[in-house]
Amino acid sequence: LSDRLSGIFDKLTGRGALSENDVNEALREIRRALIEADVALPVVRSFTDKVRNRAVGAEVVKSVTPGQMVVKIVHDQLVEMLGGDAGGLGGGIDLNAPAPVAIMMVGLQGSGKTTTTGKIARRLTQRDKRKVLMASLDTRRPAAQEQLKVLGEQNDVDTLPIVEGQGPVEIAKRAMTAARLGGYDVVMLDTAGRIHIDEPLMVEMSEVKAAANPHEILLVADALTGQDAVNLAKSFDERVGITGIALTRMDGDGRGGAALSMQAVTGKPVKLIGTGEKSDALEDFYPKRIADRILGMGDIVSLVEKASEAIDAEKAAEMAKKMQKGHFDLNDLAEQLRQMEKMGGMSSMMGMLPGVGKMKKQLDAANLDDNVFKRQVAIISSMTKQERAKPELLKASRKKRVAAGSGVDVSDVNKLLKMHRQMADMMKMMGKKKGMLGKMMGGL
Ligand code: GDP
Ligand code: MG
Repeated sequence: LSDRLSGIFDKLTGRGALSENDVNEALREIRRALIEADVALPVVRSFTDKVRNRAVGAEVVKSVTPGQMVVKIVHDQLVEMLGGDAGGLGGGIDLNAPAPVAIMMVGLQGSGKTTTTGKIARRLTQRDKRKVLMASLDTRRPAAQEQLKVLGEQNDVDTLPIVEGQGPVEIAKRAMTAARLGGYDVVMLDTAGRIHIDEPLMVEMSEVKAAANPHEILLVADALTGQDAVNLAKSFDERVGITGIALTRMDGDGRGGAALSMQAVTGKPVKLIGTGEKSDALEDFYPKRIADRILGMGDIVSLVEKASEAIDAEKAAEMAKKMQKGHFDLNDLAEQLRQMEKMGGMSSMMGMLPGVGKMKKQLDAANLDDNVFKRQVAIISSMTKQERAKPELLKASRKKRVAAGSGVDVSDVNKLLKMHRQMADMMKMMGKKKGMLGKMMGGL
């Protein structure tokens, strides 16, 4: 049995690393997927370079192929670039400014500015209980101001009364004054677009910005914007300065590569997603969902995720078996420490287990805060194989050698050994109480 156990551990640690060849081969496929998803070419290039750096040499999880592993790494990198978890970078509109807070919507004609203005106003009114005033600054298209008025009526949001003959800047000023006098929390400024980016549009946007001093400037862009997304986002950000992006028409079959392109060139988050023509078709931005969609390889990603989970579960189960036999050497402790670091730290984990309050206190006393995991693993790595298997071999001179090898004091080595003894005792005790250990290892 012990042969089988060590066999498993060998396999776990000896799964191999991604070679440059593996990575390049997989990246060819991935480049195609990104281009198909309409990610702009320069972004594809810089993105795949970044992935190559990260992927070469990375460990391959057992039971997946190197190619699948690269897909997972690409996916993680995409999620990271798109803004981590929802609530982080993509965490919605910022209203943290003195009222009335102005939100200016900019973008090309037909991108969905007016529709998205209505959607956001509706959400702020109904869900967030804000008093919102909408104003159309689009004096170019004949029925544009009327379009916003109708949206206001449909969604119970006030619109600034239409005054013929006023220009965008005048309307913006009038909207701010009306909002101040009327006690509004938010003013939504829906601007006019053009079919292409041009100088007059940029000048107009800058003037409106100066007049209204908006707290948010959202670039509204069609998810099918494709290769132009980079120019679009760059121009608006450089000339006007955007604070975020609203991506419309994500209900279509576009894969949303524009989200990555625009975020890559501006560093500004995608904040909202439009998923239909109706006023309630507005969603928060979830990087993982978009990453799945851009990559179009969601199946492979979940396969690799499951494989990694299975490995962790397998490790935990083997560990539990060993401990139940009262065997817990320093190799096991090192493995534990690595796992715990992965799971968000010991203290948070211990807090979840019943009846270990006392142990947690001891561990705290042993200074096992989450930052020292790495150092403790380093101490163990400086020991010989025999010392790890039989900690009692570690007498003064060996301790000195280990301390020097891992750059710590002998007292740190002592602390670690003491902690190991306490844990081994605890494991033995808990192993006898049936179920307890299973529960604990399940938590790992
Ligand atoms: P604007 O010129 O930027 O103000 O664009 P509009 O708001 O007038 O929208 C142009 C067209 O796109 C309209 O027919 C909208 O109904 C449609 N539209 C806007 N957002 C979405 C969306 O998220 N999904 C879909 N399917 N259509 C949208
Ligand atoms: Mg419009």
